Amino acid sequence: MENTSNMEALKNALYDKTYNCPICSKNFAAKTIKVGKNQVISIDSDLYTRYSIVNPLLYDALVCPYCGYAALVKSFDSLLPKQKEWIKTQICANYKSHPYSEYTTVHEAIHKHKMALLTCITKKGKTGEQAYIALRIAWLYRDLGDEAQELSFIQRAYEGLNEALSTERFPLFGLDEVTVMYILADIGYRLGKVLEAKRFLSTVITSPGISPRIKDRALDLKDKIFHDLNESEN
Ligand SMILES: [Zn+2]
Repeated sequence: MENTSNMEALKNALYDKTYNCPICSKNFAAKTIKVGKNQVISIDSDLYTRYSIVNPLLYDALVCPYCGYAALVKSFDSLLPKQKEWIKTQICANYKSHPYSEYTTVHEAIHKHKMALLTCITKKGKTGEQAYIALRIAWLYRDLGDEAQELSFIQRAYEGLNEALSTERFPLFGLDEVTVMYILADIGYRLGKVLEAKRFLSTVITSPGISPRIKDRALDLKDKIFHDLNESEN
């Protein structure tokens, strides 16, 4: 970031938080965003949220610099003894320390999320958790303008979230079932799965207790799909 006032705002919005690694028991510091500093500017149709000062995704995947254990902040401490063993033997045993900048770049955030995804697969984490991490990697690739990688991770997120709907309990990282169905409709549409997207939307729109925010977005997407289908007939 060349702009000095932007850099100042970024520094002021972050503080160092100490984490204790559940695998190697060492402490390490990582930047965390101060509550209330960062305002929402806009939200993409698949709910990727843009903020005024700093993208929270840049600071939400933690990698222990000593052993390579990686996870999203919310699931960092939740490990079963068996999962710790798998991570120690399959990740930490081969880990070579990777230097990251003090202020995470988008490329570094992708790297950290990929480490978290690998760790999640290694600990045999839930499909929904893996899909959620994949969706965030897709969003980070969107910021880089790398459409091929974005779509490949969207595909992965789509399959995992779809499977999680019928096999797992919700909420998933704070997302309820209807919100996940809405995301599936939108990313399905991005992947060209128009009929599936329509099916998810009908369920979303008729769900009792749906938030007006999601309902409005669902109706917008329904219009867009309707328009596309008409276009293709003419
Ligand atoms: Zn560690």
